[in-house]
Amino acid sequence: MNSKFLYRKVLPLTRRTFSINSIINHNHSCKLLVVGGGTGGCSVAAKFAKKLKKNELFVLEPSEHHYYQPLFTLIGAGVGTVKGARRNEIEVLPENCTWLKDNAVEFDLKNNQVKTSKGDTIQYEFLLVAVGLETRYDKIPGLLEALSLPSGVCSNYSAKYVNKTYEVLQNLKDGNAIFTFPNSPVKCPGAPQKICYLTEHYLRKKGIRKDVKITYNTSLGVIFGVKTYADALWKICKERGINVNLKTNLKEIDVFNKEATFENLNIPEELTKVKFSMLHVTPPMCTPEVVGNNKELSNAEGFVEVEKNTLQHCRYKNVFAIGDCSSTPNSKTAAAAAAQSNVVYHNLSAVMNGSNLSLAYDGYASCPLITGYNSCILAEFDYNLSPLETFPFRQDRELLSMYLLKKNFMPSLYWHFMLKGNWNGPATFRKLMHFDFK
Ligand SMILES: Cc1cc2nc3c(=O)[nH]c(=O)nc-3n(C[C@H](O)[C@H](O)[C@H](O)COP(=O)(O)OP(=O)(O)OC[C@H]3O[C@@H](n4cnc5c(N)ncnc54)[C@H](O)[C@@H]3O)c2cc1C
Repeated sequence: MNSKFLYRKVLPLTRRTFSINSIINHNHSCKLLVVGGGTGGCSVAAKFAKKLKKNELFVLEPSEHHYYQPLFTLIGAGVGTVKGARRNEIEVLPENCTWLKDNAVEFDLKNNQVKTSKGDTIQYEFLLVAVGLETRYDKIPGLLEALSLPSGVCSNYSAKYVNKTYEVLQNLKDGNAIFTFPNSPVKCPGAPQKICYLTEHYLRKKGIRKDVKITYNTSLGVIFGVKTYADALWKICKERGINVNLKTNLKEIDVFNKEATFENLNIPEELTKVKFSMLHVTPPMCTPEVVGNNKELSNAEGFVEVEKNTLQHCRYKNVFAIGDCSSTPNSKTAAAAAAQSNVVYHNLSAVMNGSNLSLAYDGYASCPLITGYNSCILAEFDYNLSPLETFPFRQDRELLSMYLLKKNFMPSLYWHFMLKGNWNGPATFRKLMHFDFK
């Protein structure tokens, strides 16, 4: 082993592992506790690691690995690998924090305490909840079984299943290819249809497009929430012969007959059974039970109840939330978490210093709507569902440049800037590109 590698890579890891394992006290206390070391949790922890001491900043996260989930769409289409989207959690957490590799099982907001599954209690002064959304494959009868068998059923929404999508795609020769959007909030609401467009393009490239009927069944009443981009997507579906059924929800899968049952959400008793060769399922999602069941912490829908601009909890002023688990009515994306990370950092710092909250989140979210192996519509918008585009040209078009940005540039931006606390979304670039020097 060369000495440079030993000093730069191996020793820091062993030192950091030691700092985790050496914690033998089961009652911890810290200034800031971040629960969840995913996209939002890591970004904010990295910012505070520059300001707090290691024993003041705790991150509670059970996973050994961290995934850059936005790559899953491309991996499902055969571009990139799961390994490329994965890092060890210890590599993405800031060095200057204490990682507790455990799950939160109880939030006691009145006493500023979090309990973990191993029986530890963490007393905090300030709390950031960043536990994301859980995929609930178990909620659709037949789905888990179908995913475990060579059934034509696949899903990009999990590191466990995403490789199966490309296998199914390669074996697809004829029949029905169906793509679903569930009757629940989801992370990256564009992803259920991105894989539909990629499949259509794949079949065209293979010369068998005419043999497969492609259908996108969504529980929503619209193809996309922002009209500008919805118009562009309807046009694409029409041009490429993709059938779109709104208000259509997947109820059940009969794996042995390769048949899916859909309900019409306008007429709940109306069920339709459809045979499939390929069925890409976006599962129902919800916040983890520990959040959703805690009525002090969450709203009626189970999301951490924060004020939508400040991201501060509506009742507990020392508590904030970021990312998919928060009640903010934005599109749940990593891009949104990037914009929120700066707001959380400044406003939480203000609460720590006893000063006024200084920043407001405008609902910015972005969704790179990949429409083929060389095209993408980069949707960017705010709380009003008005486009909030970074580039000084119309983005509601399929562009190669946006595809290359998504495939080649965004992953590096994520690993090297966002998770290090140095990316707050493109607001500054947008202003520069639009000569907005206010
Ligand atoms: C297929 C797919 C495609 C996507 N495409 C895009 C895209 O193109 N662009 C984009 O911007 N976004 C995209 N996203 C969405 C993006 O990945 C998420 O919005 C983002 O990761 C949310 O960050 P988060 O921190 O809220 O949650 P996560 O990153 O999911 O992190 C949550 C963390 O909390 C931990 N946790 C859960 N429960 C507990 C507990 N009880 N105690 C402690 N820790 C806990 C989990 O282990 C996890 O590490 C995509 C997602 C998927 C799945």
